[in-house]
Amino acid sequence: MADLKSFQRWIAEAAADLIEQADHLTELDRAIGDGDHGTNMARGFGRCAELAEHEEFGGIDAYLKKVGMTLVGTVGGASGPLYGTFFLRMAGPLSATADAGVFEVGQGLRAGVEGIVARGKAEAGDKTMYDAFAPAVAAFTAAAGDGGALPVCLEAAAAAGEEGRDATLPLVARKGRASYLGERSAGHLDPGAASAAILLRSAARALGADAR
Ligand code: ADP
Ligand code: MG
Repeated sequence: MADLKSFQRWIAEAAADLIEQADHLTELDRAIGDGDHGTNMARGFGRCAELAEHEEFGGIDAYLKKVGMTLVGTVGGASGPLYGTFFLRMAGPLSATADAGVFEVGQGLRAGVEGIVARGKAEAGDKTMYDAFAPAVAAFTAAAGDGGALPVCLEAAAAAGEEGRDATLPLVARKGRASYLGERSAGHLDPGAASAAILLRSAARALGADAR
């Protein structure tokens, strides 16, 4: 089970990892975009990690909504509204619980990723963050179907997200700034898929650790 504290730890760990890997993400974005993804993510998640120091939250959903709004307001670029939507939508299925289990976390992840698609219209293979998120949600659902506990489902999601990130390497981008490069976008990892994999890995560490 994962409570409000676990979700706050997730965001704190994600922020630390994104800040640590900001140069790498920026490097990826420099190759096929405008070189701002690392700084965008570090700024936005850094701000989110500070939220809990200044504000009390009534529940997981209120916290995730605030994270989403903060990302929309601070990340910028294409990824700001997309990550913001992810957290805003994730809050929905987590509104009725103070201690989220496999079912609620799975529903939350699915709703979040559906929000990304509703907003950005990405399809599988477009070389976006969706190429990390979609297999992650599928792997989570499969592990949950096998009766896996939350850490097992989150580990499966994180591993699938990393595979999905790596699979963006040969793809030609069909969405976002990288799509302007056409065939020249092939041979580079997608920066948004790389940041999504970081987010999923930190979820496995922070949300999975608390399972009882
Ligand atoms: P910008 O492209 O505006 O500079 P960022 O560099 O912060 O924004 O983010 C780029 C990432 O956003 C891409 O690597 C890709 O993963 C993601 N992205 C861009 N457009 C879309 C979209 N329509 N749907 C899903 N993800 C997208
Ligand atoms: Mg960029």
